[in-house]
Amino acid sequence: MNDATVSATPGTETMGFQTEVAKLLQLMIHSLYSNKEIFLRELVSNAADAADKLRFEALTQAGLLAEDPELGIWIDFDATAHTITIRDNGVGMSREEVITNLGTIAHSGTSEFLKTLSGDQQKDASLIGQFGVGFYSSFVVASKVEVKTRRASLVPVEGVYWASAGEGSFEVGTADVAQRGTEIVLHLREEAYEYADAWRLRGIIHKYAEHIGVPVYMLKQEAGAASEEGEEAALPDTPTWEVINQAAALWTRPRSEITEDEYKAFYRHISHDFGDPLSWSHNRVEGKLEYTSLLYLPTRAPYDLYNREAPKGLKLYVQRVFIMDQAEQFLPLYLRFVKGVIDSNDLPLNVSRELLQSNPSIETIRNTLTKRVLDMIAKLESEPEKYLEFWKTFGNVLKEGIVEDQTNREKLAGLFRFAGSKQLDEQQVISLDAYIERMPATQKAIYYVTAESFNAGRQSPHMEIFLKKDIEVLVMTDRIDEWMMSWLHEYKGKSFVHVGKGELSLDEDSAEAQKKMQETQEAEHKDLLQRLKEALGEQITDVKVSTRLVDSPACLVVAEGDIGLATRQMLEAAGQKLPPSRPHLEINIQHALIQQMEKETQAQRFKALATILYGQAALAEGMQLKDPSEFVGQLNRLLGQMFT
Ligand code: ADP
Ligand code: MG
Repeated sequence: MNDATVSATPGTETMGFQTEVAKLLQLMIHSLYSNKEIFLRELVSNAADAADKLRFEALTQAGLLAEDPELGIWIDFDATAHTITIRDNGVGMSREEVITNLGTIAHSGTSEFLKTLSGDQQKDASLIGQFGVGFYSSFVVASKVEVKTRRASLVPVEGVYWASAGEGSFEVGTADVAQRGTEIVLHLREEAYEYADAWRLRGIIHKYAEHIGVPVYMLKQEAGAASEEGEEAALPDTPTWEVINQAAALWTRPRSEITEDEYKAFYRHISHDFGDPLSWSHNRVEGKLEYTSLLYLPTRAPYDLYNREAPKGLKLYVQRVFIMDQAEQFLPLYLRFVKGVIDSNDLPLNVSRELLQSNPSIETIRNTLTKRVLDMIAKLESEPEKYLEFWKTFGNVLKEGIVEDQTNREKLAGLFRFAGSKQLDEQQVISLDAYIERMPATQKAIYYVTAESFNAGRQSPHMEIFLKKDIEVLVMTDRIDEWMMSWLHEYKGKSFVHVGKGELSLDEDSAEAQKKMQETQEAEHKDLLQRLKEALGEQITDVKVSTRLVDSPACLVVAEGDIGLATRQMLEAAGQKLPPSRPHLEINIQHALIQQMEKETQAQRFKALATILYGQAALAEGMQLKDPSEFVGQLNRLLGQMFT
């Protein structure tokens, strides 16, 4: 199965990959054909991780670094033999570690990735870059991969050899490895021969690994090979290694000395994104707490944005020593899409996740970082197109902040965008500030409606009086909106009023008069209201004369603070237990159908009309009828009578 050139030595075994690995390898080879170069990003990032891990272990085991203290990554190639070699003197792996790390998918990222496979190659290929699918990406360019590694603290003869052609199995054996760390040899596939080239390799390193905290070395270019300067410099007798990246943690440098491209490259390195970030914010805080943060807003959403359990958080460093990935204590959950690093001078080097949770200074840092991110988002608003892209991608996550982060509620709400009823196109969203600016002076509240879609919202019977009076209403159509609005009661001193809930008084001055009129009408039509109430029974709590209807004969209204009818139905269908609540029916006393009903003396016909009245009001709410066949039956009976 494996290449026959690997001779079986004592202690060598052939083992099968975990099934998922085999699947992943296949997929990777097919979907990464246009992004082959990420193999190097992944291998270098593993080598850098290995250096970080060793530094970390050396904090408690002083001797570990001593034999070979300068950590680095060395990249070499052989254009004739078509090989690329990547070596590091990081932590290395023991035999057990090799088998687990390179033979199974233990880490969450990769197995999560497999779960989301859609079979749609385009999509998979763009997704795959986000995962750090790591080591296996070497098979995209290599038909055979060989690894020699020695764990820090073990002796040379405890070295391990691993090889595979990426086709279902791998070989693992012992090897005498002189140096601590890992060496990986890629035997390139023919279609990847081009990567055994100094400029190609340097280019990729610049793109993805310019600012990892470890130097990357390549052999100095021989004069003839250097494409730019063909000077006749004498060939050095022994090739010398030179550092080809900046190898200084980017965030430790002053802002003024970092170029835009450097910031972007660093983003690609920490995010596994191919593209550029939307924006970033780099700050050093001095004083009681000292730390540096570099935070990025990504352009694209990760595939698992809505999975609140998905890995998230910042990379945590303490005094430039890498401590952990996904330190999630530094930002609230609703900002989980933010990428970046935090480097603290105050935390202990042996800080653990548990310690982070109970450390009081974390809370302070978190509050500051949260403000930073919100400011960074607010800054984007000055570029409306860019902002809209951001809003479309991350807006719904940001809305979770209304519930999660009371302190910043108003700030957050100011960032939101909604479709307004005066717009014809739901894509043209407005901010709450813009809404308030357009409000006539007499208008006191911010009106909104929640609906399944923009059109359903605009055409809801509850909207009629608003359209007639030319009052703008925000149309909210995302699932989260109803829940969010139950927590957001006001903005800049203006309260939010759902047009379909509770009492409606459009302007305060006439509220009193309106109430009087309503009472008079209700007394006048008492019989009708009573008959309707009896006919509809349990479905409603009451029947009232409406002040909000213009064209429709009736609508359903829930109490202020209650969940909307369609949402309630959806949640109940999903098995959620909600406190019981029923709507009341409001009727439009000017409407011909209502006037007709008032004159109807025949009980059965009245009942039929009542059923239809209720049914259409429910349908207009986006509800599903409990008994559609009864509704249709009644409707047809009445239609039938029209023609006889
Ligand atoms: P990830 O880096 O996301 O964990 P990879 O597939 O890139 O996934 O690597 C799998 C594991 O193999 C790593 O977590 C690490 O334990 C081990 N590994 C890979 N490369 C090296 C290396 N150069 N030195 C030490 N360990 C390594
Ligand atoms: Mg990796």
